[in-house]
This record gives sequence, C-alpha cells and structure tokens, in this order.
Amino acid sequence: MTTTLSDYYQPGWRDHRHTCPACEWQGSSRQMELELHDEQSEYTCPQCEFPLLVVLHPDLPQVQAAAAAGNAEAAGQLAILASAPRRR
Ligand SMILES: [Zn+2]
Repeated sequence: MTTTLSDYYQPGWRDHRHTCPACEWQGSSRQMELELHDEQSEYTCPQCEFPLLVVLHPDLPQVQAAAAAGNAEAAGQLAILASAPRRR
C-alpha cells in the first residue's frame, strides 16, 4: 500500500524502510525513484514503479511553525521563500 505522509518535518521518514507490495523490494525513500509535483513528492519502487510513499509538501504556516520549533531545514526553506519574488 501507499504511505501518505502529511507532516514533512516528521523526523526519520527518509530512512524508514518500506516493502513493495507488488514485487517485495525493500528499501528507504533514498533508494526510490522520486517524482516531484507541485503539491507533493511521490516515491516509487525502483523495480516496478509502484507508488510507495507520498509526501505532502508543507504549506507556509507549517514551514513557519517548524522553523519556530527549531527545525533547520524549515528555517532554510523560509529563507528561500523570503527571497523569492512575490506574485501580485
Ligand atoms: Zn516494486
């Protein structure tokens, strides 16, 4: 089955071990194929392309909350967002 992760800043998900229900491949997100979409990242099985993990991208309040809680990755993303040109 496909795991959906709604909290991007939850620690450890990148190294969590998954088993592909289709071909029994085992590994973490680091070994999977990554497909980037606007709203989410999809990690698929490197052998059969079964979608194993869907990570929903954080929205701005989530990034701000994580940065305020001391998450270094979130703080870096906030800095990037702050330097991006705003759409009018
Ligand atoms: Zn597979």
